[in-house]
Order: sequence, then C-alpha cells, then structure tokens
Amino acid sequence: MLNIVLFGPPGAGKGTQSEKLIQHYGLIHLSTGDLLRNEIAGQTKLGLEAKKLMDQGVLVPDEVVIGMIESKLDANPTAKGFIFDGFPRTTAQAAALDNLLLQKNTTIKMMLALEVTEVELSKRLLLRGKDSGRPDDQNPEVIKKRINEYNNKTAPVADYYRKQNKYYGINGIGSIDEIFNLLCKAIDK
Ligand code: ADP
Repeated sequence: MLNIVLFGPPGAGKGTQSEKLIQHYGLIHLSTGDLLRNEIAGQTKLGLEAKKLMDQGVLVPDEVVIGMIESKLDANPTAKGFIFDGFPRTTAQAAALDNLLLQKNTTIKMMLALEVTEVELSKRLLLRGKDSGRPDDQNPEVIKKRINEYNNKTAPVADYYRKQNKYYGINGIGSIDEIFNLLCKAIDK
C-alpha cells in the first residue's frame, strides 16, 4: 500500500496537492479538516463541538480525529493507499496512526512536508478567506492562532517521522505543477 502523510502548515497547499496526488496514484484522500467540516454541515453533535474549537483556530481533541480516521480506514478495506492530509497533527495522533496501520498490516511510507515561509502563508490564507467561505480563514487573529498551534503541537510531528527516516522536505513555493513534480519525484524514487 502507498500511504503518505502530506504535511505542512495551514495554507501550505496540502489540499491542492492532495487532489493531484490522488488522481495520479489512485489513492484515497483522508483530510481531517474536510471530515470535520462535513460533520459541521450535517450538524452532528461532534460537528457542533468541533466548530467551537475550529472557529478559534485551536485543535480538536486527539480522540475525535483518531476515531474519524479509524472509521474511514475501515470503510475502505481495498484501497491502494491513503493520503493523510491535516493528520496527524500531534505526536499522539502519529503514534495512534502507526497502531491503526499496524493492525491492517501496513505502514506509512513517507511524510512529504511542504515548506513555505510564514509571510507567504498569511498572505495565502487571507486570500483564500475571500473566496473559500471558511470562517477560520477570514480573521487574522484566528490565522495567527492556527499558525501558533502548528508551531507548538504539529511541527514536532515532523521529528516523529524524521526518526523513522520517513521525512521528505519539499519546497512549497512555486507553481502548482512544479511542486507536484517535486512530490512525484520523491514518491517514485
Ligand atoms: P488548515 O490546514 O488550512 O489549517 P484544515 O482544514 O486541515 O485546515 O483544519 C481546519 C481546523 O480543523 C484546524 O484548525 C483544527 O481546528 C481542526 N483539525 C483538522 N484536523 C485536525 C487534527 N488532525 N487534529 C486536531 N484538529 C484538527
């Protein structure tokens, strides 16, 4: 199986590149951000709880996202592989993911990390806020909070995969196709 963690701060381009990777490699896209927004749209109990946190730019509890990922893995037993987008966002989530995959006799092949400067990120997020309709992209304070959460809780996840020799840094500044080519080169190597 080809299981890939696509990593990077908010606004790094994970959603855009995931789309292209799933097309190219026939993978299933698991984005915890999208799964949570679906719960919000369906006005489920989980969604209502998550919305409060997401609107503030803070992470939702590990158990919640781990549970969502587990049910998606179970729902796709014949998948060729998965792209994990926006997950794992804490080292506890990374350890839980390793366990879930172990139970299915598979592992993460690599973490592809999109590297983008903070100045560029804030610019992209505010721009996205104009047309995505995502409330968390429209408020500079919330954006700042998300970048803080990333630096404090999520950035350490890179070390988790570095220790396993699975970390691949990719320059996330350039055209969509240029970045996609770099990602493919790393995967096909
Ligand atoms: P972005 O990468 O642009 O910040 P996402 O769509 O991945 O956006 O996530 C939006 C929000 O959903 C996050 O700010 C966070 O509150 C919540 N979220 C998404 N994935 C996770 C996760 N794995 N763990 C905890 N919270 C998450």
